[in-house]
Amino acid sequence: MRKISSRSFMIFIMTVAFFAGIAYHTVNLIAHSSEWITNPMNDELPSVYGLANAGKIIDRNGVILAQSVDGKRIYNENEDTRKACVHVVGDDSVNIATAIQTVHRTDLTENKFTGNFIFGLGLPQLFKSGDSVVTVGNDITLTIDSRLQRTALEALGSYSGAVFVYNYKTGEILCMVSTPVYDPQNVPEDINTDPAYDGAYLNRALSAAYPPGSTFKLITANAALNEIPDIEQSLYTCTGKDQVGGHDIVCFEPNGTVDIKEALSQSCNVFFAKIAAALGKDKMTAYAERAGFNSSIKFDGIESAESVYNVSSASENELGWSGVGQYTVLETPVNMAVISAAIANGGAPVMPYLISSMKGMTREPAVGSAIMNKETADKIADMMSYTVSSNYGRDYVCGALDVCAKTGTAEVSDDGLSHAWITGFSRDEDCPLAFSIILEYGNSSYSVAIPAANKVLTKAAELYKTTSPYNF
Ligand SMILES: [Zn+2]
Repeated sequence: MRKISSRSFMIFIMTVAFFAGIAYHTVNLIAHSSEWITNPMNDELPSVYGLANAGKIIDRNGVILAQSVDGKRIYNENEDTRKACVHVVGDDSVNIATAIQTVHRTDLTENKFTGNFIFGLGLPQLFKSGDSVVTVGNDITLTIDSRLQRTALEALGSYSGAVFVYNYKTGEILCMVSTPVYDPQNVPEDINTDPAYDGAYLNRALSAAYPPGSTFKLITANAALNEIPDIEQSLYTCTGKDQVGGHDIVCFEPNGTVDIKEALSQSCNVFFAKIAAALGKDKMTAYAERAGFNSSIKFDGIESAESVYNVSSASENELGWSGVGQYTVLETPVNMAVISAAIANGGAPVMPYLISSMKGMTREPAVGSAIMNKETADKIADMMSYTVSSNYGRDYVCGALDVCAKTGTAEVSDDGLSHAWITGFSRDEDCPLAFSIILEYGNSSYSVAIPAANKVLTKAAELYKTTSPYNF
């Protein structure tokens, strides 16, 4: 069995993200240095690289996540909130390449022309006081909910990983947490040397790609339901391993006689590996790419890392492993949530976004291109629902929502260590959530990823179901 080293890939991604941050900073300094020098409003460089008078960053409920007071950038007063939101908001530096304070620094800091100010009409007394000119940047309101952010941070516990939750009807990202975290108000001095902060500048939900393991069976199932006419009538008797391309494909345990629905529920590797090998490289690649592999996801000026599906030099056995999310397949958490959103939405996902308002702009749901047709999406949704009720247990996943889900345990090292995944969606009309969660080296998706999902989804139900005072 061939395994890739996700850690070396992660380091590669982190390096790219790090230099992207540095490059942005350099470009920003060069692009704006002349303004800073010649602008009479600035008699010295701002103490926090331009954030001294930057606008506020606000969550969906009006909670201020960052603001500038007396020339200082102040983050939320609650330390858990600061940490839970650090990868979304950013810190004073531009170390987090995808953070709002990195990507939208110019929008936050640009000087707004205020005709009222020049003529002295109608401005609050605050802006008229003193001799110096006061400039204020634009505020940015985000779609995230800082309460759900804190719950997700708790749910990840001591694991490095990510939680991504969004409304699959509107596209609003409600929760995007990456661990490890740090406090942007008091950045630890040893952040670059203490291994506990490995990759702390990386938003893993967007910028890390991991072997997806069995969650990729959703893509292989889509290919099978479209390409193999009698697939729903086909039965396979799994004894725990079988040969594909002259070498073994192994299951966690013998799955007995299964059809495609039972094979997904029990996560039979051989069943899906045989499908991938039978369909061949071109078809598998086409279905993976339709699902977002080999491209990135872009929203609000932010770009994710690419999910990777490349079987060009795979043997037949390796092609089989690719069909169950092993071999060299890599996927970002955001991509995985978008696939679940597509299944929930009848095949075409509403794409996620993070900024709900900035400079008066308005948002409309943006529908992405179809990942699967409606008939297949509905079948896979039913299969994911069956997986929850027959295999995981409804209450164990989340008793408060009608959840459809698929877990994955992706082996990433020769000593058997695995990442624990879960992705899925709720079928509740009043609480339409798509989600993905990864816990690095969590080893058991059943005992680690599902309980993390339960925490986050239960909190979301409490916050957004119409029976609660905080519905959408
Ligand atoms: Zn099996």
